[in-house]
Amino acid sequence: MTGATPLLTRLQAQIALSGPISIADYMAICLLDPDHGYYTTRQPFGASGDFVTAPEVSQLFGEIIGAWLIHTWHVIGEPSPFVLVEFGPGRGTLMKDILRTARVSPGFNDAVHPVLIEASERLRGVQAQTLGGDASRVTWHDGLDDLPDMPTLMVSNEFFDALPFRQFVKSGTRWLERTIGIAPDGGLRFQTGINIADRTWLPPDVDADAEPDGAVLEVSLAREAVAADMARHICARGGAALHIDYGHDTTGFGDTFQAVRNNQYADLLAAPGQADLTSHVDFQALANAASAAGAKVSPVMAQGAFLLGCGLLERAGALGRGQAKAQQARIEADVQRLAGDGKDDMGGLFKVLCFAAPARPPLPPFGSN
Ligand code: SAH
Repeated sequence: MTGATPLLTRLQAQIALSGPISIADYMAICLLDPDHGYYTTRQPFGASGDFVTAPEVSQLFGEIIGAWLIHTWHVIGEPSPFVLVEFGPGRGTLMKDILRTARVSPGFNDAVHPVLIEASERLRGVQAQTLGGDASRVTWHDGLDDLPDMPTLMVSNEFFDALPFRQFVKSGTRWLERTIGIAPDGGLRFQTGINIADRTWLPPDVDADAEPDGAVLEVSLAREAVAADMARHICARGGAALHIDYGHDTTGFGDTFQAVRNNQYADLLAAPGQADLTSHVDFQALANAASAAGAKVSPVMAQGAFLLGCGLLERAGALGRGQAKAQQARIEADVQRLAGDGKDDMGGLFKVLCFAAPARPPLPPFGSN
């Protein structure tokens, strides 16, 4: 066991008092505890932080998302005014790049009310700093409930993966919840506990009974509830949503719980509050939730295909034109990282979910459903 963090001490006391906790509870405490949580107290992003996200790789990412939003705004009838809301904005880089891109479209730029939904007070400050002059146009909210009643475009990058999920392990005919308890040496450890008698937890589209012993199923009611809320919001007011994250496009089995610190995988339980905790997003579950809430959901695309379909290469070419060779090589490497299929690239692992109010026309580059 490495040096005790304040959260470790607190979790040990809590578990000793009231028993093992779910991965979802562990994650919620580690990420968002007001005094010692990861997002509330640390500086996670960038090369000097714990991990690098797509908007931090290159401005190209936010510019392409911005271009998609402008196009979509035209397709849905140029509502004015409208809300553009980003969930979990991190350093605020994506919104900064979107708003800069928006200046090419005066209609969009005049009509937009930018909103950031962010749980961490500290990160709200960082976002305001990143946005600079644009910060005065932005309002911060805790959730969707109190947003202005207007048509709404939504966007997020690596937001859903940070929402809590639970794991269940197959044991004979039962699915036991994987929980976190206390090891004999006093540290935290995984254990399997309670059987889930309620089989509505099991996803409808997969044959859970056919899985071998030890199979791991990840379920996130939090993520599904948020996707459903977003969809209801858009169906009531008009608009569309674009959510990007890493994960799989169909529900599957496997343990994807991960901790990242200093750009490396870290122990999940050793230093609660000091590493980022995420798991792969089940896009089929999100799509089902949005669809059940009434939205029209497009077929999920890989990030690479989405960015290329939106003109990433053309934009990269324009950005590199007349630049020094080294700068052009950097842009090429960024394009590869964002859209490529290599092991360290984001193009294949990351997926894009788009849904919209039901009566809308097709939203390129998504195929129709
Ligand atoms: N979108 C950013 C950051 C991703 S990290 C990027 O791509 O760089 C996840 C972000 O979601 C952080 O800003 C974190 O504070 C925020 N977050 C996590 N849980 C949240 C919740 N329940 N409500 C609102 N924001 C949350």
